[in-house]
Amino acid sequence: MIIDMHIHTNLGSICSQLGPDELLQRVRELQIDAICVTDHHSHRGADKMIEYARGSGYPIFRGVEIYTNLGDMLVFGLKRETRYHLTTFDELIEMAEEDGAVIIPSHPCRGWDPKHAHEHSFPQGLLGHIAAIETHNGANKARSNDLAQAVAREFSLNGTGGSDAHSLWQVGKCVTVFENDISSQEELLAELREGNYEAAYLEDLSNSRG
Ligand SMILES: [Zn+2]
Ligand SMILES: [Zn+2]
Repeated sequence: MIIDMHIHTNLGSICSQLGPDELLQRVRELQIDAICVTDHHSHRGADKMIEYARGSGYPIFRGVEIYTNLGDMLVFGLKRETRYHLTTFDELIEMAEEDGAVIIPSHPCRGWDPKHAHEHSFPQGLLGHIAAIETHNGANKARSNDLAQAVAREFSLNGTGGSDAHSLWQVGKCVTVFENDISSQEELLAELREGNYEAAYLEDLSNSRG
């Protein structure tokens, strides 16, 4: 099952121009099986999108992207809203543990200069508290994703993929391919914890699908 795990819509992110109609149409064209709406610090857009798509049969899952002192984090399963300000990673761990949520650092190596990659380091305080890292982010330069994949290998972390789309043309660039079908938010959390998935560029999958 192919899921774009990281999408901002204009229902919940003022930085996004992506409307619900065009989004649904596009993901169907691309043969993406489901999406996660992950607006900044709010589930409002995801909830509206779920409501919007109700009856269409197209699965929409809910996440949120939270700005922390250790970088942006995609969080799935959080049962509360957070204020739009810097959250410390420690605060986030506490919230995630209480709510049974899963944390995945988004675009963990964005902005690293590959020539000086050794001068950057992945914050090891994250280890043990995250289910995966986002190794394929559609808004990243390829080299930032390459570095994230190297970090995932180094620390034996699972990788997820999502487009980080803020407009239509970005949708579906990166995706996560799950081994099992997922039909509920609970199943999504379980699969994210289990690690039965791989990140990919949709283009590569399309080539192999022929
Ligand atoms: Zn971000
Ligand atoms: Zn984002």
